[in-house]
Amino acid sequence: MNEMCCKQIVEFMADYLEKELPDEAYKVFEQHIKDCGCCAEFLRTYRETILLCRECMCNKPPEDRPEIPEQLVKAIMEARKRM
Ligand SMILES: [Zn+2]
Repeated sequence: MNEMCCKQIVEFMADYLEKELPDEAYKVFEQHIKDCGCCAEFLRTYRETILLCRECMCNKPPEDRPEIPEQLVKAIMEARKRM
């Protein structure tokens, strides 16, 4: 495996981030990311998305939502009555 096209890079991205790529593929992958701005950018957003998802699921229990101020609730109820 000497070169990867962008489509392959995208397919390998999950494995790359989970460090499940074989060494050789890993090197080719990183080389491509260095040379290819599009894939580098895609990898960055891909990684951020995964991190965000993990943070949401692990760190924030569902009950930990920001509280809605009572006044806002009242204002919404009032607005509804008028509709
Ligand atoms: Zn590429």
